[in-house]
Amino acid sequence: MQVSVLGAGTMGHGIAQVAAMAGHEVTMRDIEAAYVDDGLDAIESNLRGGVDRDKVTPDEMAATLDRLSGTTSLEAAVTDADLVVEAVPEDMELKRETVAEVESLVDDDAVIASNTSSLSVTQILSALERPERGLGLHFFNPVHIMGLVEVVVAEQTSESTLAFATEFVEGIDKTAVEVGDSPGFASSRLGVALGVEAMRMVQEGVASPADVDTAMELGYNHPMGPLELGDAVGLDVRLDILEYLREELGERFRPPQILKRKVRAGKLGKKTGEGFYVWEDGEIVGASEDVMDR
Ligand code: NAD
Repeated sequence: MQVSVLGAGTMGHGIAQVAAMAGHEVTMRDIEAAYVDDGLDAIESNLRGGVDRDKVTPDEMAATLDRLSGTTSLEAAVTDADLVVEAVPEDMELKRETVAEVESLVDDDAVIASNTSSLSVTQILSALERPERGLGLHFFNPVHIMGLVEVVVAEQTSESTLAFATEFVEGIDKTAVEVGDSPGFASSRLGVALGVEAMRMVQEGVASPADVDTAMELGYNHPMGPLELGDAVGLDVRLDILEYLREELGERFRPPQILKRKVRAGKLGKKTGEGFYVWEDGEIVGASEDVMDR
């Protein structure tokens, strides 16, 4: 199949990599040649890491790179594509413009997917003349490691589009879960619900962040507790998602005071060195003292 990926950033290059590894011909498009090159370099470096760990053979690496190309031309990227996956920045107008432009260039039966993590797929697709050809394919970061793809069924998505996309996901060795086009889909909504309750528990003094996290790691077999995960993702990102989910789904997603305070103080987690934990060189080295309800 001919797959076109729009955006060579964090998600775009990952999606391009897994599609090419599965045997598809892939064209990755970004707006500047330097971004395209960065995406191609990142793929090459991921594959080299795979070879070093004996997960990928040198032949597989070479064949994958052969099936991949990069361009800044949208027309060159999508002409002849059977599937176009957009992974451009999370901006409704940009995504609507992008899919509409794609539709003017592709064949009638090409499927158009959005990798949005929070926007309404139904609203993105309403920019299309034939929106039944569209749906959401929500990949997880890092794409070459994470096994899940949420297949987001919008109001307009046809049965044949859904069947085609599900087969594509299974063909790239990922597990598809089918979800309706509802805020936070399945994964973010549940993950964030757990995270926000963990923050409230810390704020109320029920347990320390480390003890809340250990309870979920050892008691529920989660690979990482909800507070460490929040720190890793970025507390500013968590706060944005909570504010959006609160607006859409109600007060149960109201951001706790402790989270707002940390974000205002620039304690965003791993990337700034402190969140619910203190971090150094990407590792937790201690507990943040700022956990009391003030
Ligand atoms: P990113 O900023 O790393 O990459 C976006 C890329 O798109 C940039 O390289 C940018 O130059 C390029 N771009 C901008 N306009 C473009 C256009 N018109 N055509 C082609 N490329 C264009 O962002 P990202 O983290 O890869 O996120 C992309 C999408 O994936 C967003 O919708 C985001 O919500 C979603 N997503 C992100 C994650 C994550 O963990 N980062 C997870 C799931 C979904």
